[in-house]
Amino acid sequence: MHDASLVLGVLNGDDIGHEIVPAAVTVASAAAARHGLRIDWRPLPIGRRALDSHGSTLPEGTLETLATMDGFVLGPIGHRDYPKGPGAINPHPIMRKHFNLFANVRPTRSYPGIGCLHDGVDLVIVRENNEGFQPDRNVVAGSGEFRPTEDMTISVRVITRLGSNRVARVALALARSRRKLLTLVHKNTVFKLGCGMFVEECYKAARDFPDVTVNEVIVDTMAMRLVRDPQSFDVVVTTNMFGDILTDEAAGLVGGLGMAPGLCIGDGDFAMAQATHGSAPDIAGTGRANPYAMIDSARMLLDWLGRRRGIPQAVAAADSMQRAIIATLADPKARTGDIRGSGTTATMTAEIVRGIEST
Ligand code: ATP
Repeated sequence: MHDASLVLGVLNGDDIGHEIVPAAVTVASAAAARHGLRIDWRPLPIGRRALDSHGSTLPEGTLETLATMDGFVLGPIGHRDYPKGPGAINPHPIMRKHFNLFANVRPTRSYPGIGCLHDGVDLVIVRENNEGFQPDRNVVAGSGEFRPTEDMTISVRVITRLGSNRVARVALALARSRRKLLTLVHKNTVFKLGCGMFVEECYKAARDFPDVTVNEVIVDTMAMRLVRDPQSFDVVVTTNMFGDILTDEAAGLVGGLGMAPGLCIGDGDFAMAQATHGSAPDIAGTGRANPYAMIDSARMLLDWLGRRRGIPQAVAAADSMQRAIIATLADPKARTGDIRGSGTTATMTAEIVRGIEST
């Protein structure tokens, strides 16, 4: 068994990141203390503030420093508002690529009373993270988009056997630990080669998971079925862009983007907690940001690291976070306005901490 200790980076990101990342650290610290887990949090500058202080939104040495740690919490990045110029880059695709965090695990769960469109939703979308249609990460150099003439743009979609197979394995292992159903989402009716290869590799990987039932849904049908019967899904695996879109749709079913956590993982023991939502500049500084997605992402990080590294204290800390989160979501005075509450980031965080400390 490992020492009951973890070293975790803390990168606030932009806008509401400065509110919800400290909330996640506060909650995870309370749970760790309660269960005998020592977390050494190491803050690092990133985003707009790092641009001002270090001349780059991803200061030199950040990746090397993170590599010495067990994982990290990354707040939302508001890259669309960065000034144009050197040093103002979107850091998170670089991080996902650098650490080979090819699987983006995004759960969707409904809770009573918070304005979900359906009850009984409990699904996880595993989105391929490092190839597909995303031009900022699907090539080693240059961009996956180019403009040969003024009037023509070509966007390249990259699908590989390795990338498809390994993300399928993450999804299959997850399905095995849940209700043992995996849905492949693709459009091989049109993308015969690209989606065709993705599906082929998913089925190849599934041979090693005979206990998991695998079915397929075409992406446009999936968009409709998510709205009509989301309860019929357990784990879903899909390519990058389809996953990007479907995870926001799934969030919309259960109270919005504030309810959409995520964990980026790869083959190693290193992971990045990152909520699905953006930096929400429209509500930054108002105290209205829902910290659930970020807190639950940190919970996923502790749970995953605890299981991968054999640290039961981390798993226990994650479990106690989960219980306190569920209890807090049931309290309209504690929870935030986006999920039918009258509380703030601070009240929600304090109530989750109180729940952890009182059980
Ligand atoms: P990106 O493309 O970077 O993911 P986005 O365009 O999806 O960003 P967001 O920043 O996620 O935009 O914000 C979309 C809307 O959701 C905004 O109105 C924002 O206030 C709201 N929102 C996002 N996150 C939260 C949150 N944690 N709590 C409350 N509202 C949120």
